[in-house]
Amino acid sequence: MAKHQFQTEVNQLLQLIIHSLYSNKEIFIRELISNASDALDKLKHLTLTDENFKKFDFNPRIDIFFQEGEGSTLTIADTGIGMNEEELAENLGTIAKSGTRNFLQSLTGDAKRDSNLIGQFGVGFYSSFMVADSVEVISLKAGDDKAWRWVSDGKGEYEIEPSYRDTPGTSITLHLNEEGQEYASRWTIENVIKKYSDHIMFPIFLHYDDVTMSEEEGEKTVNTDQAERQINAASALWKRSKGELKDEDYKEFYKTISHDYDDPMFWVHTHAEGAIEYSTLFYVPGTAPVDMFRADYVPGVKLYVKRVFITDNSKDLLPVYLRFIRGIIDSEDLPLNVSREILQHNKVMQKIRSASVKKILNEIESMKNNNREKYEKFYQQYRVPLKEGLYQDYENKDTITNLLMFRSSKAEGYTSMEEYVTRMESGQKYIYFITGTLKENLKNSPLLEMYKQKDIEVLIMEDEIDELVCGTALGRFKDFDLKSVNRIDAAEDLKTETDKEREKEVEPLINKFKTILGDAVKNVKASARLTDSPACVVADETDPTIQMQHIMRAMGRAELASFKPILEINPQHEIIQKLINSNDEGLINDTAFLLLEQSMLIEGMELLQGAEFVKRMNRMMERAL
Ligand code: ADP
Repeated sequence: MAKHQFQTEVNQLLQLIIHSLYSNKEIFIRELISNASDALDKLKHLTLTDENFKKFDFNPRIDIFFQEGEGSTLTIADTGIGMNEEELAENLGTIAKSGTRNFLQSLTGDAKRDSNLIGQFGVGFYSSFMVADSVEVISLKAGDDKAWRWVSDGKGEYEIEPSYRDTPGTSITLHLNEEGQEYASRWTIENVIKKYSDHIMFPIFLHYDDVTMSEEEGEKTVNTDQAERQINAASALWKRSKGELKDEDYKEFYKTISHDYDDPMFWVHTHAEGAIEYSTLFYVPGTAPVDMFRADYVPGVKLYVKRVFITDNSKDLLPVYLRFIRGIIDSEDLPLNVSREILQHNKVMQKIRSASVKKILNEIESMKNNNREKYEKFYQQYRVPLKEGLYQDYENKDTITNLLMFRSSKAEGYTSMEEYVTRMESGQKYIYFITGTLKENLKNSPLLEMYKQKDIEVLIMEDEIDELVCGTALGRFKDFDLKSVNRIDAAEDLKTETDKEREKEVEPLINKFKTILGDAVKNVKASARLTDSPACVVADETDPTIQMQHIMRAMGRAELASFKPILEINPQHEIIQKLINSNDEGLINDTAFLLLEQSMLIEGMELLQGAEFVKRMNRMMERAL
């Protein structure tokens, strides 16, 4: 008998599961049954598509046995694909999924939140250790002739040895602990299955002792027969009509397909008939999937053809930006042996995909129009992928644009593009936005002073992706171009005659500054946008903004981020006014640099010569004291 150690992460997870899912321990049945159902799906697929399995006598079913009293057990057996020795070790001894470490780090100790995260992580099988002292798995992989037995008490080790099973499939026997006693009962099992697994497509049979009394010639006898009864409806929920289904049905089904323990935020159920026929059922999880921002995210939509499971591992069923969607696509027109390549190029699939995206976006849009509070909750979690849609999905750009909302310099909460436009000042030619990360920082940015004074609203774009979205992908909304306040040209159209006169007045000082600052800046200009601050830095018309340069550096592309800033000075500010009349070369020199340096600091830029900056500061302090 070969002893193996669990992967360290498995041990950690086992601990976590036992502690955080404790109050909801019955879900282990759902987990084991949904694994059994997946295994049946996989074998069914083989029997329909693989020559070697064409003659296979497939009798798909899930059987549940239990033993009450002393040494009580619960067994869940399926006639699915089964596992060989390596697969047992791999699937039940490690966590193959990416991001395990990240996941463990993201746990907070808040039981409700953690259990939700655990659910999304799909640690299904391990949940059986909540109710069992030891778990025994006997499995024969379809096509193999050797069966294997895996056994563990969930305390760091498991064993694998040769075993016996006459047909392919897997039986999982839980040796119930004290907490698990209640599951060795016909009544409890039936209830839990009804609650969680009624829509499993394969029949689930519960085996129990049927006790009857008989009387013959005055003599009573008690007969105990093994009986079985199918306890689930076994119909594909997504094929049923919407009228037949209750919210609870949708929610429970979501939990069986998503491994999420919380309710979904909402769902969209569609039956399409006509040229092509299909059903789709899509869900938006209540909490964004933990791998949403990982390139190796696990896709959440399963493809079925005529109710036969095809794949749950295709990233082509929906566009990448909708990767947070969970659900089912079931087509009547695709071939069963549809391959990856076919999925990518097949006309039917493309139509289903395109109609599905529209359906999902429309549902989101109507939520925005009818339930703003709910929409804002959705938006909090999913706005970044949604924004990716602006440059990934040209066809739906307008719809996605209508879904956008941003913080604003004028209004609390979120402002949509439409709302911005209706609030625009008369004569305002552009939609102004400022990018950057910290909301409070942005609200105090010197770049916004003029807009505040002129009462012009500026959208505050906090996500890194906004730089790409608004700078490039969006560009225009209705009749208005978007203009970044972080650039030189943003203030041009707002200049008044007085501004122009003031510009003349500071020209000699600006020329001095240009000589002093030399290579440190791209240019020095008089600013019309400042009121309280003496200076600010901005990006040239076609240069990436300072925030964009941050992103480029973070992506390791420093060579793309070496654009110099333009220094704008405020002709009205006292410091500038005093400098105009000063002949003190040393003072002008230090002030020029200090104005540049303070402006760079406010924008979160790094000073190249920190030591020089400190010296200048000290000289200024000496003068003042
Ligand atoms: P998940 O189901 O989320 O992948 P589990 O820990 O429940 O996580 O299962 C791990 C893996 O073990 C499954 O992905 C599957 O490959 C395999 N497995 C579990 N139960 C069965 C079963 N009854 N038959 C075949 N394979 C199974």
